[in-house]
Amino acid sequence: MKPAVPVNVPKMETAFSALGLQDSLAFAVQEMGYVDPTPIQTAAIPVVLAGGDVIASAQTGTGKTAAFALPIIQRLGSHGAMRVLVLEPTRELALQVEEAFHKFAKFTDLRVTIVYGGVGYGKQTEDLRRGMDILAATPGRLLDHLEQRNCSLDKIDILVLDEVDRMLDMGFLPDVKRIVQQCPKERQTLFFSATLPPEIERLASWALRNPVKVEIGRQHSPAATIAHAFYPVVASQKFDLLQLLLEQTEFKSVLIFCRTRMGADRIATRLTSKGHTVGVLHSDRSQRERVEALDGFKTGKFEVLVATDIAARGLDIAGISHVVNYDVPENAEDYVHRIGRTGRALRTGDAFTLVTEDDVRDARSIERFIGASIERKKIEGFPYIYSALFDEKTQIETAPKATSRLHRGARR
Ligand code: AMP
Repeated sequence: MKPAVPVNVPKMETAFSALGLQDSLAFAVQEMGYVDPTPIQTAAIPVVLAGGDVIASAQTGTGKTAAFALPIIQRLGSHGAMRVLVLEPTRELALQVEEAFHKFAKFTDLRVTIVYGGVGYGKQTEDLRRGMDILAATPGRLLDHLEQRNCSLDKIDILVLDEVDRMLDMGFLPDVKRIVQQCPKERQTLFFSATLPPEIERLASWALRNPVKVEIGRQHSPAATIAHAFYPVVASQKFDLLQLLLEQTEFKSVLIFCRTRMGADRIATRLTSKGHTVGVLHSDRSQRERVEALDGFKTGKFEVLVATDIAARGLDIAGISHVVNYDVPENAEDYVHRIGRTGRALRTGDAFTLVTEDDVRDARSIERFIGASIERKKIEGFPYIYSALFDEKTQIETAPKATSRLHRGARR
């Protein structure tokens, strides 16, 4: 069991304490290297501390986890009943939120637990029965545990619905509603979604009471710190172009998105045979394999992570220098989420998208979605087979922009 450790936390006078956060929290975030609150933190923390409902539209990478986690920890104070539920669409996101709560709550005796699907019930049931203050969960598995009476939502004071648009895309709306209905009516509800289309606004007006609306940035635009471009190419040359891009790019870690699981496996195998260290992340992989791929990518064991859109939203992997869309995403909004994996928290990143003639319609819908045209680029020296795509406006470039080159040897 975690000891209560509000020991020797100095008196804090930081930008975080100025938002009303107590010393132990201001100290914990300082230890994590945060200096200034992000805009969503500045807007949401005082509201959450005061007990108000919040509906926030913010892109991933804006610091929204801390925006809800820090004031929640302060409101909870010390260990008691299960009072906070955070719903997340995927196990990866649930794990990430759990980890963030652990870090922020370092100087408290609060307990955090997690439940998600795809693994056995045994340990989760034990954890739930042992008791906790904060539960991070995916909807389906939480409902199973509720049916088995392994936990109850009777004492929930604060409900966080995170990545709501993603939960709806994944068909979780009925599950989310059933869960909300099991929470007490008297509660604080915090609602986060990258976009707020009418269906989501309806859910919000049903679940929230007089929420303060927080909007950070334009929902449709990629972060200004990301340089992104389209690379037209015929389908048969896609892999060769990818390889040249990787060769010419001084990357630290690159996340490659494919449309299908089979496609992701195929690209990973081909890149491995070319000497890259590669992890693969998609929903056909076991939980253990997914954790290994993510951890390996985070620690630098894999310089490349090939993923389907399961990895596109919300995953917080520090220091991704480049994102490659090997396949153009079908859903225009996923483009913003995919390339948002780089350039997080104001770091700069580059994103490349390979576009074939079959992708023209999806590529245009991305441009419509973000309300801007995306530059077409060609790599000089590549033996391009002619495509009508090249007749659109292009710009010749000798090499993609450089960042630090840490894995030079692996690409030979
Ligand atoms: P999130 O949008 O919650 O997934 O956070 C994105 C990333 O930004 C995470 O790596 C956080 O640790 C980091 N982060 C959050 N708040 C701050 C801050 N105030 N200063 C610096 N980094 C932050």
